[in-house]
Amino acid sequence: MQQAIGPTSKTYDVLVVGGGPAGSTASTLLSELGWRVGLIEKERHPRFHIGESLLPWNLPIFERLSVLDEVRKIGVVKNGIDFSEPSDGREISFAFRDARTPTPPSAFQVRRSELDELLLRNAVKRGVEVAEEFRVTEVDFDQPDRVSIDTIGPDGGAARWHARFLVDASGRDTLLGRALSIKERHPSHRSAAVFSHFKGVTRSGDKRAGNIGVHWFDQGWIWIIPLRDDITSVGAVAAPSYFQNTGLDHDALLLATISRSPAVAARMRNATMVMPASMTGNFSYICRRMWGARYMLIGDAFAFVDPVFSSGVYLAMDGAVSAADAIDTYLRNQEKGTALFDRHERRVRRGISNYSWFIERFNEPATKALFMNPSNVLGMQSAILARLAGDVHSVARLWLPLGLYKLIYNCIRLLGARANSTPAPGDQVN
Ligand SMILES: Cc1cc2nc3c(=O)[nH]c(=O)nc-3n(C[C@H](O)[C@H](O)[C@H](O)COP(=O)(O)OP(=O)(O)OC[C@H]3O[C@@H](n4cnc5c(N)ncnc54)[C@H](O)[C@@H]3O)c2cc1C
Repeated sequence: MQQAIGPTSKTYDVLVVGGGPAGSTASTLLSELGWRVGLIEKERHPRFHIGESLLPWNLPIFERLSVLDEVRKIGVVKNGIDFSEPSDGREISFAFRDARTPTPPSAFQVRRSELDELLLRNAVKRGVEVAEEFRVTEVDFDQPDRVSIDTIGPDGGAARWHARFLVDASGRDTLLGRALSIKERHPSHRSAAVFSHFKGVTRSGDKRAGNIGVHWFDQGWIWIIPLRDDITSVGAVAAPSYFQNTGLDHDALLLATISRSPAVAARMRNATMVMPASMTGNFSYICRRMWGARYMLIGDAFAFVDPVFSSGVYLAMDGAVSAADAIDTYLRNQEKGTALFDRHERRVRRGISNYSWFIERFNEPATKALFMNPSNVLGMQSAILARLAGDVHSVARLWLPLGLYKLIYNCIRLLGARANSTPAPGDQVN
């Protein structure tokens, strides 16, 4: 049930732009803390969204929002991750239960249309006033004690809304990042993806049936995400140049890419595409500022790294939880709140950079070598698993094994570089 917002009810303590996981989480928690919260979403849920594989550390957040049982009903249980690379067709499985830090042993794969609708309806149940099909077009910070925003509604009509505080959860639209010119693209990490849903993709008959598959091909990697009702999400990620000037449409491009991974091609022998393939590009960015007087950026509205470790929804929701706590304090006491904003920002940035190190090196031969030949010496593999499960904040139990992993990674790279620069017998040397 939507709680309609009438023309007389347009002043709030907090306005949240965007009804994705970040916006729904922050608005629900702030409403539970007693604030009057309005959420404005440009689309009507349910709506398609990419980002279907969740992490184990999402579960405590679902519990805090009192939706874990409902998420369980729409999800496929994901116990771990399967990796393969094309040279030998071997598959290696990592199980979350082997993580080095206390970690929920599984996560869920979900249709985002269902998850996002569930989270948004839950926000309404907890008192958030939600307006769907209202697109925010302008933000105005001119008044010293409030922020105002302009929207275009479903009938094309304009409206103005006011609040003491604005949360930008507009995702990759990056409403404030663009308006304040604070969005910065990663200097080198760029990629694009083509993806669709399929029926009839083979699943293993054991505990790995719901695992995400992450399968390298020569120019990138392919995800396989099992959803309910025999639907599987399959997408390929590579440098934008890989997708350009091929002369293929999105469907053909995805199918041609799938054939580059023996492991994926084998599982998709009898599969049929059930929706047209889509494409999205240029992922990595971060905003120079996360907050200012009367505003905060959360989730993808602040930063997006890359889809490879399925971290987006978790990072968005985890950040939304700590943002809601800080905003609650700020609305009661600005000085104390500002100190908490600083702490919140450091926490979010640390989480992102803990993932980025692995993400930026994911397509390197050294990563493939280490992931495909895992070793648990000093707890290395179980530490990697803790990170992949979403434990981006633990330090004490992870710094040594992860430090060792990074050292070995760098040695392999160095040796690889040396081997490449050493002329092979018979090479001509000028
Ligand atoms: C190819 C690809 C694959 C991915 N795979 C995964 C994955 O497997 N697992 C994972 O966890 N993450 C994945 N992600 C990332 C994930 O999609 C995002 O990190 C996650 O959705 C972020 O949540 P959010 O709430 O910040 O933003 P969103 O979920 O994008 O929500 C933002 C909302 O704001 C609304 N909005 C935007 N602008 C306005 C406006 N002006 N006015 C009103 N409303 C507005 C939008 O309609 C949207 O509903 C993937 C991303 C990509 C690109």
